[in-house]
Amino acid sequence: MTEQQAVTVPSPVEFFLNVPLYEIFPYDGDSAPLVWNVEYFEGTLDSYCHECGAHSIFDRTPKDKHYDLKKSTYDHVFAVELTCTRNRKHTLFFLFKAWKKTVQKVGQYPSIADLNLFDVKTYSAVLPKEQFREFTRAIGLSAHGIGVGSFVYLRRIFESLIAEAYALERAAENWDEAQYQQSRMSEKIEILKARLPDFLVHNRGLYGILSKGIHELTENECLKAFPIVKVGIEIILDAKLEQLQRTRKQREAEKAIQALASSVSNNGSQT
Ligand SMILES: [Zn+2]
Repeated sequence: MTEQQAVTVPSPVEFFLNVPLYEIFPYDGDSAPLVWNVEYFEGTLDSYCHECGAHSIFDRTPKDKHYDLKKSTYDHVFAVELTCTRNRKHTLFFLFKAWKKTVQKVGQYPSIADLNLFDVKTYSAVLPKEQFREFTRAIGLSAHGIGVGSFVYLRRIFESLIAEAYALERAAENWDEAQYQQSRMSEKIEILKARLPDFLVHNRGLYGILSKGIHELTENECLKAFPIVKVGIEIILDAKLEQLQRTRKQREAEKAIQALASSVSNNGSQT
């Protein structure tokens, strides 16, 4: 990958909610309307509202008073303010800079990390405290334009999922520790596949991408890849979450059935 390759300007919603600060998108005369879509956004946005403490729908603040801070034909800074439809005093604010036929988001409030953290809180149930902190740190770093650093934390989470499966599997009777230790990550995943979520097993290339990000990719390439890699990790965690919920439900159901069975048999013995 090179910095020169054609990059499409993200959709407004993508730009507001997922694209990290300072990720640069080149555009030309043909793709300029994609920038206008962001600048003159008139749609709605489904996002966490930090003041409601819940998800809400946002639309453009009427007569956006911060709009168009400093404008020339091509190079200018523009702001987009969106208002919570539940309470018109709640706002999201985004600042963009269009410069030398590139566009980037240079500011926002609340931060991407704050908008995202609400949604990732559920994963604290399936990640040890330290790994959960690292996951939120990865989101925070990428939100502030630190791409390679965010990859380091995501890779550590990936490694911790493998380590967890390894800790369970190594107790197996025919376990070959020496072979495991010599194996590459993709081979380790193959050895541990019975203990790992299917998505991880089928998308084990994710680890290679994370490692490549740390050693070879530029900050901008890591930032661009971050949302995709993060979703990959989330899907793996979703599977663990589902499994946890299923186990809990089964345990509760078993208890309830046992209680019901004993009350039914008690009733039976009384009649
Ligand atoms: Zn609100």
